[in-house]
Amino acid sequence: MIKYALACEQAHAFESWFPSSEAFETQRKRGFVTCPFCNSPKVEKQIMAPSVTRTDKAVPAAALPEQPQPVAVLSDQARELRAALRALREHVMKNSEDVGKGFVEEARKMHYGEAEERSIYGEADMEEARSLLEEGIDVLPLPVVPDDRN
Ligand SMILES: [Zn+2]
Repeated sequence: MIKYALACEQAHAFESWFPSSEAFETQRKRGFVTCPFCNSPKVEKQIMAPSVTRTDKAVPAAALPEQPQPVAVLSDQARELRAALRALREHVMKNSEDVGKGFVEEARKMHYGEAEERSIYGEADMEEARSLLEEGIDVLPLPVVPDDRN
């Protein structure tokens, strides 16, 4: 499918999809392509800017907004929280099974009752973590806590 930006003799602009450029020309010559505003069959291509339909639903990486990373200057209270985050991370890593790159598979198995329920941690990229959450699997990104240099 090709999308054409079209304009009629009265300069009404509109867009329409065609199976191919040949199909557009044939339909136009037969007067089948008409302006949706005034019904005129005298229609011309505005600009050659076909956008081809994609069959996959992948969003190009460039279309994703860059998330600004939050930064902070810490108060005493925030320092305590940071220590708590580090403690949480250490607790999880000490008391959970490291399944490494098998994390996504193992989390799914546990969720669907194919593996024993227990605390695990491992590696997953954001895309994988998101799909786990969508399946109702509660995953927690472990906080990365910068070293306290004070
Ligand atoms: Zn028109």
